[in-house]
Amino acid sequence: MPFIKPTYNIDGDVTDIIIEALISDGVKGLIFDLDSTLIESKSARLTEEVKAWLSKARPHFKMVILSNNKNSIYLEKVKTILDMPVIGYAKKPSRRGFRQAMEMLELTPQEVAVIGDRPLTDILGGHRSGAKTVLVKILRSIREPSWKTSIRNLERRLIGK
Ligand SMILES: [Mg+2]
Repeated sequence: MPFIKPTYNIDGDVTDIIIEALISDGVKGLIFDLDSTLIESKSARLTEEVKAWLSKARPHFKMVILSNNKNSIYLEKVKTILDMPVIGYAKKPSRRGFRQAMEMLELTPQEVAVIGDRPLTDILGGHRSGAKTVLVKILRSIREPSWKTSIRNLERRLIGK
């Protein structure tokens, strides 16, 4: 297990990311994880908070969603709700999906930040692809069962956070 430190470790959810910090770091494109990072999975609910953050970020970055989710109906719905391209069945941390996403953005890995809540999929895959990585906590609007929180915390310990 490689020791991986995200480029940015956000003590909060996606809406706590400082947009200006990414801009001044040369980031021109964002690859988002979907479930728990941008949207509450299953319900496909987009909160007002996330919506507001996205509209602040949108003028500054090209954006794409890279998800391991395999539910094509759900992914189609999300594409409409979030108004950005969605790559599903990504098999993160495989580099293939990340490469595909960067091609779509027409940007180099150095110009891209991968944003996600899972160290072993989003952060590991983004890191291996040469992109900057932003580890966020799951959306604060989500109440998850405690066993899920435990797994998440274990993953964070594994990467040395
Ligand atoms: Mg996620």
